[in-house]
Amino acid sequence: MHSPAPPPSPLVLHTAGEIRALVREAQQRGERVGVVPTMGALHQGHLSLVEQARRECDRVVTTIFVNPTQFAPGEDFDTYPRDVERDTDLLAQHRCDWVFAPSREEMYPAGAETSIDVGSVAVPLEGVRRPTHFAGVATIVLKLFQVIPADVAYFGEKDYQQTLVIRQLVRDLLVPIEIRVEPTVRDSDGLALSSRNAYLSAAHRAQAPALHRGMQLARQQLEQGETSAATLRETILQFLTSQGPFEVDYIALVEEGTVNQVDTITGPTRVLVAARLGTTRLIDNMALS
Ligand code: AMP
Repeated sequence: MHSPAPPPSPLVLHTAGEIRALVREAQQRGERVGVVPTMGALHQGHLSLVEQARRECDRVVTTIFVNPTQFAPGEDFDTYPRDVERDTDLLAQHRCDWVFAPSREEMYPAGAETSIDVGSVAVPLEGVRRPTHFAGVATIVLKLFQVIPADVAYFGEKDYQQTLVIRQLVRDLLVPIEIRVEPTVRDSDGLALSSRNAYLSAAHRAQAPALHRGMQLARQQLEQGETSAATLRETILQFLTSQGPFEVDYIALVEEGTVNQVDTITGPTRVLVAARLGTTRLIDNMALS
């Protein structure tokens, strides 16, 4: 008996010209192309996006690019985990067709200065703590869409505000691509998977699920009738500080699909949390109602 053949490795492309030609040829054959933008260091959260793309598209492209412009000076750009070979093996197992892994020069030609400001959706929450972050995200995502004129692009709900930034970008700039947002994938203890979880010490890793647990407590409290956002935020804050050395950046309750904070919960609401454990910054969110 032969063991089954390993899945074929995806083709890895490094230049815009190569990947664009493949995507266009596929579309000329009538194939639907899906793209999953990532910074690599892939985990099951990323792979769930690839799986969804695989279900819905004829061709799947995953991009791997640690985008310098979305990191501020002093953030973790230099230490961000990079392992394209391991990522490519994982993508083979998920039957990804093409990997686009450009150099910095490919995405930012010498002298590149254009930057995309998507306006008010990028201003609060993450925008306060990382004022240049979403301009970097919007700029690279638009560049990727220019290089990979896919039919549909997949993003994770884990980065809720980012999904709103991208929807705004696509709407405002008339980009002909469908945006799909897929649920957050969590570890068995509730911690949202993130490439940055690798930075956590063992002690902090054990405390980190409190982020999810705290949001669940707020949801239970809402189900029991508590509709004051201040009270629900306080529940999460008290829980976090009882569970570990969390330094909370924000706990926000927003109207679903927006970044508008609410005082009283009257309709679909999402809770967003950002906190640091040591030097690792974690973000998470969940629907409350
Ligand atoms: P990143 O490599 O961190 O830039 O993430 C690439 C894409 O994967 C983004 O759309 C993220 O929102 C998504 N993603 C990251 N973590 C998760 C997760 N735990 N569950 C689902 N999607 C995720």
